[in-house]
Amino acid sequence: MPHLTPLGTLRRLPHLYPGGVIDLHTHSTASDGTDSPARLVEVAARAGLTTLALTDHDTTSGWAEAAGSAARQGIALVRGAEISAIAATRGWGTGVHLLAYLHDPAHPDLLAETERTRDDRESRARRMVDLLSEDYPITWADLLAQTQPGTTLGRPHIADALVAAGAVRDRDEAFATILRPGTRYYVGHYAPDAVAAVRAVRAAGGVPVLAHPGADARGRVVPDSMIEELADAGLAGLEVDHRDHTPDTRRRLRDLAGALGLLVTGSSDFHGAGKQNRIGENTTAPEVLDAIAEQGYLEVLR
Ligand code: AMP
Ligand code: FE
Ligand code: FE
Ligand code: ZN
Repeated sequence: MPHLTPLGTLRRLPHLYPGGVIDLHTHSTASDGTDSPARLVEVAARAGLTTLALTDHDTTSGWAEAAGSAARQGIALVRGAEISAIAATRGWGTGVHLLAYLHDPAHPDLLAETERTRDDRESRARRMVDLLSEDYPITWADLLAQTQPGTTLGRPHIADALVAAGAVRDRDEAFATILRPGTRYYVGHYAPDAVAAVRAVRAAGGVPVLAHPGADARGRVVPDSMIEELADAGLAGLEVDHRDHTPDTRRRLRDLAGALGLLVTGSSDFHGAGKQNRIGENTTAPEVLDAIAEQGYLEVLR
């Protein structure tokens, strides 16, 4: 397991908005972050955030622990998730991430989809470990040793097993080499159609925001026409301020959001020690949080 985020080294974030410091996209050990939900909230509070959203991949299992910690730390919590989806673009479809905020975690349609995704993520991880074990000294037990029970499994955990086996230095190196799509070890996984996912999030009372829509270094991104289709299906916003977006991409996405009447968010996509992203490195305006809170089924916990 990579190290915890060291609390002593966190620098207080500047208050860009008088209404607070709001980071709406972070991960805990319920998926591929390296801090437990409770510790993630503590890290956020120490860094000076006033509002944090917990958005683990395809799960809400970290919510309860995060809520307890948020109450102790005196920080507001937006309960969310990052839903894996596939946009039906030309060719093979494009993987997209849909942030869902303040939805009913028990709503059957959305829950069935995320359960199916999580199950298939496990089969896919088994398949990838099988393929990797032909060339690297890793086993299924080695992968499980990098996770908590119930974690949404992803390539970052396979990366951690490869680090523990001495095959790579860190997650970054694993992603740049062995775990890249296109290698003989890469296997995809099930994810719902993106338009259907937007509808399912709305049906569950959630507020759907498209995560890092212009992150082209990760692979293909969806065309504007697909974002329009998602907007027609009920998309509420675009995550514009994200480290994987160039200044040019941010301008373009901000304009598109304006044209489509979508909210604009900014977030860190913090994964603890598992990625370079620093908590609060991008933030969301307080009036945007207010709009999300107004549309969501659940309350923001304060
Ligand atoms: P998966 O969904 O299992 O295919 O894995 C993709 C996940 O890996 C994304 O959610 C990213 O957060 C994470 N990821 C992508 N690139 C890196 C990297 N260089 N280091 C650590 N995590 C990464
Ligand atoms: Fe992730
Ligand atoms: Fe993402
Ligand atoms: Zn994320």
